[in-house]
This record gives sequence, structure tokens and C-alpha cells, in this order.
Amino acid sequence: MKKRVLIIYTGGTIGMIRDHKTKALIPFNFRTITDQIPELKHLNCHIAFHASQKAIDSSDVQPAFWEELASIIEKKYHQYDGFVILHGTDTMAYTASALSYMLENLGKPVILTGSQLPLGVIRTDAKRNLITAIEIAASKKLVPEVCIYFNSQLFRGNRAEKFTSSKFDAFQSLNFPVLAEAGVEMVFDERMILPKPKKKLKVNYGFNEHVLVLKLFPGLSPAVIDALSEIKSLRGIVLETFGSGNAPSTKKFLDSIERLIKNGIVVLNISQCSGGMVNQNKYETGIGLRDIGVISGGDMTTEAAITKMMFLLNRYSSRSDVKRELKKDHAGELSL
Ligand code: ASP
Repeated sequence: MKKRVLIIYTGGTIGMIRDHKTKALIPFNFRTITDQIPELKHLNCHIAFHASQKAIDSSDVQPAFWEELASIIEKKYHQYDGFVILHGTDTMAYTASALSYMLENLGKPVILTGSQLPLGVIRTDAKRNLITAIEIAASKKLVPEVCIYFNSQLFRGNRAEKFTSSKFDAFQSLNFPVLAEAGVEMVFDERMILPKPKKKLKVNYGFNEHVLVLKLFPGLSPAVIDALSEIKSLRGIVLETFGSGNAPSTKKFLDSIERLIKNGIVVLNISQCSGGMVNQNKYETGIGLRDIGVISGGDMTTEAAITKMMFLLNRYSSRSDVKRELKKDHAGELSL
């Protein structure tokens, strides 16, 4: 039996073609996709399409867009064996992370892909990214996860980050191995792929947007941190620290962070480094944070951390519940 794959088109560079008259890049009519990529007719699966009302650049993505995607998947879940989401690369890792928390007990592949060059450009990477993403979604080897497929590599979505805007290998995942490599053969790393859950899919909606990513830098004034207390609705901060989770050890800095925590704000420590993990027990500069109640974010990416914070702050009203859940691994985003 041929598998059934639903392609959900949202926008991004992948959906652009050149207007012959003006030479400008414009979103193409998604209904003509098989004219653009005739190879789609020859794949060994049934393909159906769903296009968002309006194609967007992924810089315009908001939590309501994640909810819309999750609800399409929820509604169509039983009709299809896998889902491919065409998405701009800029915020693809945020969408993948958010979906990984929303789609609890996901038992089917949800593969996000996009491209660095538009579909209508001769050297485009769009065709091969899309074709292989569909093949993975329809593969006999089941990958029941939210993934990003890009330039021959299949990443766990909440472990990936966009690290270059100019090369074809736009994504990397330094803290977790790739789930598959598409060479001459498709080679899956079975040990790394999450097992198929026994329970039924449960889609959790809602995000709390009253959060912030605060990137430390030498010279960041405690007065600026103190000013954050003025934002009465602020509930959570992802603190991007140095190296293995280190921050200034001055009393002024630590007092400012501690004041935020005492005001009820949850502070999560993740590193500015793409590889490695936060260890708040290693250096005095990390221990200081631990002692005032900052939570260690381990080896999570910024994208996985901020979307997890938004997700949990909406789900739990008590701060201790949010803190407890932040420390747990929910969808393979965190090594314990
Ligand atoms: N700005 C585009 C987007 O993220 C870039 C891309 O698709 O690669 O929507």
C-alpha cells in the first residue's frame, strides 16, 4: 500500500519564483507545484497539498501560526502517514521546537523543509530538499518526530539551529547526532530516533508570549536588567550565558537577576555556544546563578528553550510546576 503524505505550504524562499517580466522574486501559485517539480508525480506515495491562506516570510511567524499548523495536523492526522511542512528557514527551528511540544505522543513523521535558493532558480536546493523530505515522510523506516530535513541531513527539529544564511547546509545540530543522512542510500540512525509512542496523539495548544531572551555581553548594565522589573507581565527569561553557563560574578549583577526571580520571573540558563551544555556547578560564575535560583537549561538550543518556556508558562500557572517541567525532557530536546 502506497503511503499518503500531506504537504503543507506556508511560504519562505522555497515558494518563490522569478517573475519573467519584472525579474523580481514573487510567491508562486502553490497549485502549480507539480508543474514546477514534475518529479513529484513519480514518487512512490500519494501526495496531497494544503496551502496557507497567505504565504509568509517566516520572520512573520507567531505562536498563532504554530497553532494553525498543529490544528491542520490534528484534523488530518488519520488521513495521512506523514506530513511535510514547507517553511522559511529563518524561524524554522522555532516552529519545529514549538510543534514538538504541542504534538504530544506524535506517532508519524512531521518533516519541515525549505531552501536557500527559490524554487524557480536554476541552482535551487528546493527540489532535492522537498523530494527527499517527502521520501522520509513516506519511508518504511518510521521517524515519529518533528524533524528538519535540509541539505542531505535529517535533524531532530528541536535540536537544530539555522547557522548560515549563505550556504546550502543552513542547519546544524551540535548537541545531537543527525537522525538520517541522505546519500546514495538513505541511512537512518535507528538508535537516535524516538520510539513510536503507545498513546494517542494529543495536541496541546497555547503559548505565553510574555517572555524574553537576554543575551549576556561584557558591559551589560545591571540597571538595564533592573528595568525589566518594570514589565509587569513578564513571566520568563531565557538567559544566554557564556561558555558552560557562566555569567558575571559581581554582586550587582547577581542581585539584579535575583530581584527578577523574587518578582516571580522564571530564569532559565542556556549557553551562547551552539555546542556543549550548561553546568552551573563548575565555575564560581555559574554557581552564583544556581544559588539565586536560576534553572539550568542543559544542552538546549535557544529555539528549543524559549518555545518550551512559552509552552510551559501557558500550561502551568504555578511557578514551581513550570520550573520542574523545564528541567524535564519533553520531546527529545534535552539530554539528561
Ligand atoms: N526569509 C526567508 C524565510 O525565512 C528565508 C528562507 O526561507 O530561507 O521565510
